[in-house]
Amino acid sequence: MRIENDPKLDFRDVLIRPKRSTLGSRAHVDVNRTFRFAHTGKDWTGFPLIAANMDVVGTMSMARALLKHGAMVALHKHYDADDLIAFFKEKESANAFYSLGTTETDHEKLKHVHSKAPISKICLDVANGYTEKFVDTVKATREAFPHAAIMAGNVVTGDMTEALLLAGADIVKVGIGPGSVCTTRKMTGVGYPQLSAIIECSDAAHGLKGLVCGDGGCTVPGDLAKAYGGGADFVMLGGMLAGHDECEGKIRYEERDGKKAPVAMTFYGMSSDTAMKRYSGGVAKYRASEGKTVEVPYRGPVEGTMQELMGGVRSAMTYIGAVRLKEMPKRTTFIMVGSQLNTIFGT
Ligand code: 5GP
Repeated sequence: MRIENDPKLDFRDVLIRPKRSTLGSRAHVDVNRTFRFAHTGKDWTGFPLIAANMDVVGTMSMARALLKHGAMVALHKHYDADDLIAFFKEKESANAFYSLGTTETDHEKLKHVHSKAPISKICLDVANGYTEKFVDTVKATREAFPHAAIMAGNVVTGDMTEALLLAGADIVKVGIGPGSVCTTRKMTGVGYPQLSAIIECSDAAHGLKGLVCGDGGCTVPGDLAKAYGGGADFVMLGGMLAGHDECEGKIRYEERDGKKAPVAMTFYGMSSDTAMKRYSGGVAKYRASEGKTVEVPYRGPVEGTMQELMGGVRSAMTYIGAVRLKEMPKRTTFIMVGSQLNTIFGT
């Protein structure tokens, strides 16, 4: 047994310190980034936010809505092949990832869809990215799809980030246990504070010209700014994008002023009982029952939330004098607050 003593941070443990700058207004900052994918050599430009590959939020309508903002979607794994073929023939699929796991059925389906509608972005997603089988899957997918950008995960440490990048991933998905409907930390005791995971994995990735996507744990727009400030190239959101018209969750209505009005929507983890029941008898288990089902307030079109998210990031950039999103990590100084101070100083 070993104990690591250095503090590991979650988003709530820090704030970003304001810095002097010449920036006048948030209208003058650029929230877009251009990345070159290490294995394909292709460039991508946009707002580096990705809707999670969860049933409720990783939808085709979310992909169409987020494309307007240059953001991305990792489609959930449960669309049937014909729907995927039709979607990937559309121009609006430009920023969408095809998501899959490691089973042969998953990969046969990907090859079939790709033979009819070329796939340019693949998200290889498992709960535990630390297995040899997963590394082999990344290698095999890279060989089979030399021209596709591959995002793979999840992991939370620099060593495994490097392993996945060297195996063929362009983007490593970082996060074990921080998700809003995830119970991994409670069920298994396993996890890693998300901001530290992002800081450590991005440091490892950038040394190899790889990229990371901080996946899970953002609950307010400021968490996105902290993730980018910590070195995340992309940020993946589940819960923050739930409850919108573009989602596929069950809506609960209430009588208001004599009319039926939508008030809440179901949102669930991909290894929750809800997901298991829905896909039992066919689809391989996504995660070993480490998710829960919740209701989130109904929030109308995702457009309003996107404005809020992008506005929050723009404003954070103004506070620290970052003209371009790329400059955020250089301009960010985190100050530790709250629970971490209690841990360190016993206050
Ligand atoms: P959120 O943005 O809601 O905090 O986190 C979204 C992320 O939670 C997803 O991208 C995925 O990595 C993770 N996730 C989704 N469903 C489950 C689940 O059932 N169990 C666990 N452990 N993680 C989940």
